[in-house]
Amino acid sequence: MILKEKARFLLLKYIEAEIPESFEKKVHIHDALMKKNPGNTEKEPNLLDLKIEIAKEIFKNCTFCERRCMVNRYEKSGFCRVKSSLISCAFPHYGEERVLIPSGTIFFSGCNANCVFCQNWDISQYLNGEEWSAAKTAGWVSMNKMRNGIINVNFVGGEPTPNLLYILEVLKELDVNIPIIWNSNFYMSEETMKILNGVIDLYLSDFKYGNNERALEYSNLPNYWDIVTRNHKIAHEQCDMIIRILVLPGRWIEEDLPRILDFIEKNLSNARINLMSQYKPEWKADMYPELSRRLTDKEWQRACEILSRYSVKRL
Ligand code: SF4
Repeated sequence: MILKEKARFLLLKYIEAEIPESFEKKVHIHDALMKKNPGNTEKEPNLLDLKIEIAKEIFKNCTFCERRCMVNRYEKSGFCRVKSSLISCAFPHYGEERVLIPSGTIFFSGCNANCVFCQNWDISQYLNGEEWSAAKTAGWVSMNKMRNGIINVNFVGGEPTPNLLYILEVLKELDVNIPIIWNSNFYMSEETMKILNGVIDLYLSDFKYGNNERALEYSNLPNYWDIVTRNHKIAHEQCDMIIRILVLPGRWIEEDLPRILDFIEKNLSNARINLMSQYKPEWKADMYPELSRRLTDKEWQRACEILSRYSVKRL
């Protein structure tokens, strides 16, 4: 992934911002400044600072995702179990899509979903990591860009959404020109989508299901389809997207995959698709007969055949 000019979070630092007391005024000024072009020098305070202040207010009554727990995260955690951000591990990742490697991948612990087949269940379903200061994480990025040639910062987990405030604070500390990837289940709230606008250079989404029922059964995510389709449409207006589709065994191939591809073809013309075959039964998948095995060759061929009917761009 090549940056045309500057990473978008750096440009936010070039837009001067007033930071008023009231939440409503902060949001009002934010929305007006999002239409403004950046100047030539860094300003203080700036639009990134304003986004941080808005995120701090939401943090006190958390609605970063559509769980809308409304808990004060300074005092306790909500459904995702994340109070303050925990980094489970961080390394230059060579296993991501070819256009993204080496990717400076930062794995957070905790998640707002409970996917019964979670491939990262040890960090998503249990809190398992260390608190790093924002300055330490920014330093990790700078050092890995210089020494290991990482070409992006890839915030993932678990899930990045509960860590929105922390991520913005890291970007405040970061002065390296490097694109930012939001690698997520896309169950964010509209408030979060608005804050992410201008921060993220590439959305890397994990599009799991083509209907609400299966999302509730396998991932405990109410109204999944309505929320993630809304967020994909918003994200598509903001920047580039790569959509990962992990092929699940069984009914999913005939029932979910065509609906997901239909939606992408009709609504997300610039998105690129990565159809993934590496599903393996993890965590509680053995309790669900159709998820308790890998894909067969025939199922994978069928998924590829369905994909071939669409004109969506593939990686
Ligand atoms: S990020 Fe989502 S799940 Fe976590 S506390 Fe906030 S609203 Fe709840």
